[in-house]
Amino acid sequence: MPVRIVDRISVVEGDITQQQVDAIVNAANQTLLGGGGVDGAIHRAAGPELLEECRSLGGCRTGEAKITKGYRLPAGYIIHTVGPVWSGGLAGEDELLASCYRKSLMLAESHDMKTIAFPAISTGAYGFPLARATLIAVRTVLEFLSQSPGIEQVVFVCHGDRAFRIYNDALRTLAGKDSPSRQPEMSTSTSEDRESSGISGEIRRQVDGQLLMIESVHGIRIVNRDRLLDKIIDAARDTGHASRITAALNSWVAVNGITGDAEIPAEVIRRILARTGP
Ligand code: ADP
Repeated sequence: MPVRIVDRISVVEGDITQQQVDAIVNAANQTLLGGGGVDGAIHRAAGPELLEECRSLGGCRTGEAKITKGYRLPAGYIIHTVGPVWSGGLAGEDELLASCYRKSLMLAESHDMKTIAFPAISTGAYGFPLARATLIAVRTVLEFLSQSPGIEQVVFVCHGDRAFRIYNDALRTLAGKDSPSRQPEMSTSTSEDRESSGISGEIRRQVDGQLLMIESVHGIRIVNRDRLLDKIIDAARDTGHASRITAALNSWVAVNGITGDAEIPAEVIRRILARTGP
């Protein structure tokens, strides 16, 4: 039976230097001579021979990738790629970030590698918003895997549980990772019913993913996201109702030309809930 593309992707929380894969990807800088964050961790774990080999590479341009051996790492190889520095989203950052994932996968494929682990490139010191970067990472990997059977497993290694949640949401939103186990929609129910039947958790995951999409599509960050999520979940009767609420919110963001860090006013939510109510 052919393996589904989505089953060739996994999300783990942990340290990328410990991954037992053919290659790990390093979020490097243009010098390739080491730095902080994941780059520093990889150089420390791989040992000083890595820096020696890196010196011979002559740096790397943003959006490109170069390969070295893994030295003392469990992984045989390291693919060094240079993510874009975030400067507001209008300087080609999205495309450059997608290029990092594509070029790294192309390099892995050309070396007959089967398994590769990625960190969340550009989302640390380079300041790329995590939700937006995650959607680009997952979408680009899905596209690549759909055209290339060689790579068997791509692992997204998340540093911390927020990243772990956002990656899983993105995978669910873009590829329906857990869709076979989804519960059927319910038309009316009490919150107790919903809690005990798992519907409440299902609505939470769905709304979380939809808020992520709104943030990503409009390039905004909803600063009162957690409170908003709770309000929508409290009000939503089922997943269909939750979708109507987030669709109305999406329209409001578009119509009002919201940008950057945005607080969704309580009054706006109140109006949306009244309008989309049962
Ligand atoms: P960049 O300069 O590309 O932003 P950073 O290393 O600063 O690179 O951060 C990239 C991402 O790597 C961040 O999300 C950070 O939390 C994560 N990270 C840092 N150390 C590790 C590690 N040991 N394993 C996996 N991810 C890590």
